[in-house]
Amino acid sequence: MVDNIKECALLNNGVKMPWLGLGVYKVQNGEEVIHSIKSAVNAGYRSIDTAAFYENEEGVGQAIKECGVPREELFITTKVWNDQHGYEPALKAFEESRKKLKTDYVDLFLIHWPVTGMYKDTWRALEKLYKDGYIRAIGVSNFHIHHLKDLMGDCEITPAVNQVEFHPYLTQRNLHSFCREQGIQLEAWGPLARGAVVKDKIIQEIASKYKKTPAQIVLRWDVQKQVVTIPKSVQEYRIIENMEIFYFELTEDEMKKIDSLNRDERTGPNPDTFV
Ligand code: NAD
Repeated sequence: MVDNIKECALLNNGVKMPWLGLGVYKVQNGEEVIHSIKSAVNAGYRSIDTAAFYENEEGVGQAIKECGVPREELFITTKVWNDQHGYEPALKAFEESRKKLKTDYVDLFLIHWPVTGMYKDTWRALEKLYKDGYIRAIGVSNFHIHHLKDLMGDCEITPAVNQVEFHPYLTQRNLHSFCREQGIQLEAWGPLARGAVVKDKIIQEIASKYKKTPAQIVLRWDVQKQVVTIPKSVQEYRIIENMEIFYFELTEDEMKKIDSLNRDERTGPNPDTFV
C-alpha cells in the first residue's frame, strides 16, 4: 500500500518516480508557477510535470533553484512538443528545455503526442540523450496501444512511462493492461477530469464515508491502481488537499464502483485524430 508522498513507482530502468506529482499545465510562467511549486515542495511534493508547450519551464527552473530542496531530491518531467519532432529538432528542443529549467539533467523526458511518421526519429533522439546521461528516464505521452507496438517494434529502449488522460470517466482498461504487461508505467494526466469528477454522486458517497473530498478519493483510486498521478492546482489549500491521500485505503468494492464509472469520455483530444 502506498502510504506517503515520498513513495515511488519503480520504472523499468530502476529509476524511482513519485506516485504523486504537481501538474503545471496552464499555470502562468513567473510568479504563479513559482509560487505553486514552492507551495507544493513545501508541503512535501517532489515531482513536477511541465512541458515546452506550457511555456512555463523558466518559472519551473527558477522554482527548482529557490525551493530549498536539493535538485537530486526532485523529479522533473518535461516534454517535446509536436512541432519539434525528428532527430535533430528533438535534440535541440531538449537543450532548450534543459536551459530554461536551469538543470543539468531532466528526470523524465516525454514525447508529448504521437505525431504520425515522426515519433520514431524523435525517440532515437531521446535514446541518445538518455545514453549520454542527460535524462534519467524516457517515455511517451498520449500513445495508444498501436502507437506503442509500432514504436517498440523498432526501438532499442522501451518507454519507461506512458502519460495519458486517465480518470474515472476514462479508465483506459486495455491500455493499462498492455502497459503493465510491457513494464511501462502508466501516468494519469487530467486525473480529476479537470474538475468534473468531483461532482460525481458515487465518488461523493465514498468520500463522505472516509471524511475525504471527492478529489482525494479519485487520486487515491489512481495510486491504488498503480497509476502515477499529477493533479494540477495553483491554490495552496488544494495542492495540500490533493496530497492527503495516504493513511486510508479504498476497498476492492469501492475500487470496482469507481472503475464502473468509465464512459470512455475524454476532456482532451483523441491522439488518433489530434496529430
Ligand atoms: P486536472 O484533472 O488535474 O484538473 C485540474 C483542475 O481541477 C484545476 O484547474 C482545478 O480547477 C481543479 N482542481 C484541482 N484540485 C482540485 C480539488 N482538490 N478539488 C476540486 N477541484 C480541483 O487537469 P490537468 O491540469 O489538465 O491535468 C493535470 C496535469 O497533467 C497538467 O497540469 C499537466 O501537467 C498534465 N497534462 C498533460 C497532458 C498531456 O498531453 N501529456 C495534457 C493535459 C495535462
